[in-house]
Amino acid sequence: MSELYQKQGFELKFLGTMNGFSQSHTNAYFFPDSETLAFLDLSLYNFEKAKRLVDRNADRLKRVILFLTHTHDDHISGVPRLAFHVRHKIPGVKLEVLTSTLLIQDAYRICFGMGARPLVGSNGELDDVIRIYGQALNKAILSRWSDQVEFLVDQNLLDERSRFVIPDWFVKTVPTTHSPRLLGSCGFVFRLNEKAVIYTGDTNASEHFYEQAERFVTENIDMKPIPTELYIDMETIETGVHLYWEKEKKNLERLLRRTNHLKVVLMHCNDCEVMVDEALTMNLRLGGEPKLFVAEEE
Ligand SMILES: [Zn+2]
Ligand SMILES: [Zn+2]
Repeated sequence: MSELYQKQGFELKFLGTMNGFSQSHTNAYFFPDSETLAFLDLSLYNFEKAKRLVDRNADRLKRVILFLTHTHDDHISGVPRLAFHVRHKIPGVKLEVLTSTLLIQDAYRICFGMGARPLVGSNGELDDVIRIYGQALNKAILSRWSDQVEFLVDQNLLDERSRFVIPDWFVKTVPTTHSPRLLGSCGFVFRLNEKAVIYTGDTNASEHFYEQAERFVTENIDMKPIPTELYIDMETIETGVHLYWEKEKKNLERLLRRTNHLKVVLMHCNDCEVMVDEALTMNLRLGGEPKLFVAEEE
């Protein structure tokens, strides 16, 4: 992204940018202020990078906030280690997790068996083995991180809210759908220094995120349009659980041609090159500046 644009507000950086089959899982971070480091998901592959980031800034940090979009291991497997590291090695820093209410309820249900859901599809297909393994892994992960973090909070849990100070740059969670067996998948909206950032997490439904983006970039009585970045899950194969580039690119193009206040960054891709090439041929530019990017690992 150009330097000019970076100066307008806070910047999201990526520890990894690709999908769950890679070793560069899509996890991001930003510094909303000098005392806070915010992560968007954290995989084990990116734990060392996250740890270095925390350690390098340990002197000035007071809060590390983990925004979790869902419980697939490419998004949460690094959380217990980071929680452990922060809690035991940097005791002055508070580690908090913010996610959807449904995810928290589901996490507790998985960990502590409250109304446990069936684990087995029972016909012994590979699919079931993966599913059981995935859920067992998530169970182990969730039970480890939930007792290391200071606050596990959703903006709707009012009693938690009194202990957790909701940062003023956090706008809201956006409930979404992804894998049908996973409850509580969500994206996030942030607003800081007159810039809005919308982050979808893994999703198969773009509508709410486009609506959110349109609200920020459209002139209306209450609000002037503000520069907005939409970070959006995208794959070039049709899986049913992620957004499909072939279908979404037309919607994105329409949205981007209508406004000069929006930039879109594609992430979680299986094949970034294809998307980079096509994004270039779409020639969506504002002055000399592209409007459509593919996320780059820092
Ligand atoms: Zn993922
Ligand atoms: Zn996922």
